[in-house]
Amino acid sequence: MTPLEILKKQFGYDAFRLNQEDIINSVLAGKDTFVLIPTGGGKSLCYQIPALLLEGVTLVVSPLIALMKDQVDALRVNGIAAAYLNSTLTFQQQEKVIALVRQNKIKLLYLAPERLFANENRGSLLDQLPDVKISLIAIDEAHCISQWGHDFRPDYLILARVKKSLPKVPVIALTATADKLTRKDILEKLELDNPNVFTTSFNRANIRYIIEDKMNSVDRLMNFLSQHKDESGIIYCLSRRSTETLAEDLRMAGFNALPYHAGMDTQTRISHQDKFLKDEVKLIVATIAFGMGIDKSNVRFVVHMDIPKNIEGYYQETGRAGRDGLDSIALMFYSRGDISKMKRFAIIEGNPEQTAISLRKLDQIARFAELEACRRKFLLNYFDEATGDYCGNCDICLRDLETYDATTEGRKVLKAVSELSEKFGAGYIIDVLWGSTSNRIQPEHKRITSYATGNAMSKTQWQGIIAGMVTQNFLEKTKGAYPILKLTEKGLAALESNSAIILTRGRLENEALNFDKAANLPLVEELKAVRRKLAAIDGVPPFVVLSDASLEELATYLPLTREQLLNISGFGETKVRKFGDAFLTAIASYCNAAGLESKIHLKERKIVKRSNVDHDTSTKQVTLKLFQDGLRPEEIAVKRKLSISTIEGHLAFYIKTGKISIQQVLQENKIITIEKVVNDLGSQTLTPIKLALGEAYSFSEIRYVIAHMQRGTVEEPLVYYGHQSPGDVVYEDKAIYQISTV
Ligand code: ADP
Ligand code: MG
Repeated sequence: MTPLEILKKQFGYDAFRLNQEDIINSVLAGKDTFVLIPTGGGKSLCYQIPALLLEGVTLVVSPLIALMKDQVDALRVNGIAAAYLNSTLTFQQQEKVIALVRQNKIKLLYLAPERLFANENRGSLLDQLPDVKISLIAIDEAHCISQWGHDFRPDYLILARVKKSLPKVPVIALTATADKLTRKDILEKLELDNPNVFTTSFNRANIRYIIEDKMNSVDRLMNFLSQHKDESGIIYCLSRRSTETLAEDLRMAGFNALPYHAGMDTQTRISHQDKFLKDEVKLIVATIAFGMGIDKSNVRFVVHMDIPKNIEGYYQETGRAGRDGLDSIALMFYSRGDISKMKRFAIIEGNPEQTAISLRKLDQIARFAELEACRRKFLLNYFDEATGDYCGNCDICLRDLETYDATTEGRKVLKAVSELSEKFGAGYIIDVLWGSTSNRIQPEHKRITSYATGNAMSKTQWQGIIAGMVTQNFLEKTKGAYPILKLTEKGLAALESNSAIILTRGRLENEALNFDKAANLPLVEELKAVRRKLAAIDGVPPFVVLSDASLEELATYLPLTREQLLNISGFGETKVRKFGDAFLTAIASYCNAAGLESKIHLKERKIVKRSNVDHDTSTKQVTLKLFQDGLRPEEIAVKRKLSISTIEGHLAFYIKTGKISIQQVLQENKIITIEKVVNDLGSQTLTPIKLALGEAYSFSEIRYVIAHMQRGTVEEPLVYYGHQSPGDVVYEDKAIYQISTV
């Protein structure tokens, strides 16, 4: 049989990933082989398949006794003769395993490193197997042999003897994380014989790296979780206790969360892990004890409540997100204070070398957290991989700008402006493009050719396009409170010549909000003084007036009006009335002196984004394409090997954006009935709607209709400046610019 046939027959997969096949061939050719593939990349098959093809038994050295059983079980399920030898087995059980190996009945034997050679308690396993052919030795998690690595295990040092004792047996060493130094060290320690080295790109392009300030991290976390309802996620905490308290807090807040740490009794721990794996619980709040060897592909996000000890840990833990290749998020809360705390832990009594290494690794992750450049670049460079300056999928890159081709849309806008005789503002123009039936639209404007030509895009998207066209000078805005859009010469030329309209837009998303609090620290001090005064007047403690967190928010977002103050947490109407002006005065004079503008629009967007995190992705586009090719959702699910609910989610997304019309998926009478029930219930929660509708209606049908009803509402708030009244949509360039990114 060929490796590919084994892959299909025994493991049920269609194709090799990346360089799996080359690695397998290297091993089959009897070469020593070194493999660096990130977590989840599929390292196991690189030795499992050769093990099945080679005569004799493959010894697999693995550091984690706890995982051996799982791995062996997984192999047995695939009909592969595998066993493990470790201290969890009784003496009799161990003898039995060894007997099986002697009879050539085992293809893969997992063991801890010290088993290989004799020690004071036990003879060498090799001596017990004099006539057994050892086909291959696989050393998993090979970085454990290096002091330079993040997970040094003295037991592994014994493996340095492998090549000397068994010079004819090929060795494959595998690891997911190793910087250059560690890599070199592994190769030297193992004394591999002119090995073939395979490295795959470490880039996990589908993972978005986001780092936020740790202030109010629990609130922020809940905020984040409510944007990611029904998704699976791992939340890492540093201490065992905090996993329990946080899980409890989350449950109280209505989230489906369970804790996990090594101090829990085994049964509970296994049951929690099991529930998570089976999707019975969505969130697992864990110490880093959780995750090793866990292969759950649909983890949509990994959150670090505390900074990990090193980049390797961070990369491994975040790597547990998105193994299925779909968009996923790695969110970390960071405070500089944590680093000093961690430094104290990093000190290993009586071991200055190890301490120095740990401290250096801490400094590196601190640098990563405080980075002002592409996070992915930093990570990949850390693992010695060259990459561009800009990944477009980390918080830093998302703040930057991108150019895009808006020729089609841009022309629609230019045409509408022209057809409306250059007499209207952006809001009106968008309504016309959208085909609004409102009375606000003059009847004759409902008959122009531009009318309803733009209903495939959300209003927010149109706002972005128009803002971009003003910036790029295709359009100009008249001055005053109610600016009107006019064609510039450039705009006129583009309309007549059909030339390309290239625009730029910010890629900022709310998650990427990075606070520049430190810069406004003097203001926090001033605000504290104001708070003290107000507290003294009322004879109450300062925190009763306002919490520190609220003060920090004030200093971050710099609200300048009473209305804006309402957006700051801790400010209800009473507090605004009572204390607002005192704080506003302090903020305004600070802003004047420092030449700062309010950043409150960032705060506003943040709130709205909660309902609007959904965005177009390449995987959704594949579904759309198949749908447009005439496949039914069930057929798409089968074809794409995705769940039907994922596919329905994709379709619902496009119903929301208008790319798919609800009529394409549902009959008119059903639409009307579902809409009515949704409206009557006044809620968009699926279950009650389903209950009200009964058997004749499916969840997916309800989901589609809700998406349809949300069509176009995926818009972010406009920032109104002063005097214009809502309804007359007038924009301030910069504000739109910043809120226009979808
Ligand atoms: P690693 O050890 O590199 O972290 P694993 O060997 O545990 O990764 O593999 C991760 C997951 O990917 C497993 O579920 C494995 O079965 C799956 N996998 C590996 N190779 C392939 C492949 N060629 N096609 C499909 N799935 C694969
Ligand atoms: Mg592995």
